Amino acid sequence: MARTVLVGGTVVTVDADRRVLDPGAVAVDGDAIVAVGPREQVLAEHPDADRIDLADHVLLPGLVDSHGHAGHSLTKNLADGAGDDWLDLVKEIYFEATGTPFWRAEGRLAALERLRAGVTTSLSYVGSMPRVDDPRFAAAAATGYREFGLRHVVAVGPPDGLPVDCADPEAGTETTVDLDRAMATTGAVVDDLHGNADGRIQVAVAPSSLVPEMDEAGNATEASVDQLRRVTEFAEREDLAIHAHAYEGEIAAADAADPEVLTERLSLAHCAGIDSEEVALMAENGVAASHGPLTHAYAWDRFPVVEAMEQGVTVAVSTDGSAPDRSFDLLSQGRIAAQLQRAHHGDTSLLPAGRVLEAMTVDAAAALGLGDEVGSLTPGKRADVVAIDRRSAKLGPHLDTGQTVPRLVNYADGGDVSFVMADGAVRLRDGAVVAPEAPTVEAVLDDAAAAAGTALDRVDAADALEPHPDLWGAVRYGE
Ligand SMILES: [Zn+2]
Repeated sequence: MARTVLVGGTVVTVDADRRVLDPGAVAVDGDAIVAVGPREQVLAEHPDADRIDLADHVLLPGLVDSHGHAGHSLTKNLADGAGDDWLDLVKEIYFEATGTPFWRAEGRLAALERLRAGVTTSLSYVGSMPRVDDPRFAAAAATGYREFGLRHVVAVGPPDGLPVDCADPEAGTETTVDLDRAMATTGAVVDDLHGNADGRIQVAVAPSSLVPEMDEAGNATEASVDQLRRVTEFAEREDLAIHAHAYEGEIAAADAADPEVLTERLSLAHCAGIDSEEVALMAENGVAASHGPLTHAYAWDRFPVVEAMEQGVTVAVSTDGSAPDRSFDLLSQGRIAAQLQRAHHGDTSLLPAGRVLEAMTVDAAAALGLGDEVGSLTPGKRADVVAIDRRSAKLGPHLDTGQTVPRLVNYADGGDVSFVMADGAVRLRDGAVVAPEAPTVEAVLDDAAAAAGTALDRVDAADALEPHPDLWGAVRYGE
């Protein structure tokens, strides 16, 4: 007997038949969905269950943000307009000026933002690229996701530019990370976190780059091949997903070095600048892509989103949140991704709304290897459900069920999410957070501000908060 029925409203299942039920209902027992169907039928089958009234709401699967970064919630807009200097500053902060309080405070803020945006499953690197001198940072970064009851993939693995120096000012330690150390810490993080919180906290083996170094001919260097093989072997041994940034040439270089490393286990962020041969390699080998439409990577170079989808590559839309200039509001990214493709190709027929929603739900779950667990409202999957009030000036009036998915994708933002259930527990109700194990919203914000201030002081970069001289009136920064 199901314990709770979420009584819709319109239920957008994104299930195998892409059913949209109006009115529909979702029955939940413990942490699992046990029935999804027409409202009266589900209620008749579960007469004794508790009921949560979500009439006049649209229910959809918890959103899946397949790429983002821990740390970035405390470096948003730092050095605005400074181009690549921004990345240099955050690397200095992340690798030399932070201890566990920073990562814990940041993780709580990031988890809270994602919860409010209806993102119940997410991935974040621990840093701009993984900080792996000590497994405590990954554990601290995951704390908020655990407390707010969300599903989270902690991405750790070798950073670029090995060996990398790290310092923890609070512990008074300095460490140089080489590949052995990076893999050892990754193993410790897996032992420590993978499968925690009833399986909600998972770990992906996540080198910052698929192929960090290539020679002039575009071949992976010996060190990069060695890293790639060790990452792949480790992930296979531990049965983990692999996630990495990849840019032009890296997929071809990985394939040339060792075709065994391109598998369905692998998802790649950005893929900017890749050509049709690399798209074909992804399609042939089941390698998924996480596309961030607002990333600098995409501003610099295209990922052929439409072409990849047409060839059968699983393409997720992700945030790459939340710095230097984008939020964790995944829902808004979908229509931005679609609009950028339409503008590029001069074709407004591209990327129908249903396909866009798939890229933030089922396809994003598949990209992370979580397709059997989340991404659709299907009996047997985890009970991750989001609801949006459709009676608002922006989303109303409700005319016909056939309008629901385009209305949602074209108009709704994370801020419209009013209800979130994650793993069967209600975490947002009438817009208010329900997380007894987590600090209050005020405490999260206060701790975050304190941690950011401390980190900026340590690198003597308080001036990074000042507005750029070209903020007003100029056509471009740095004129
Ligand atoms: Zn990224």
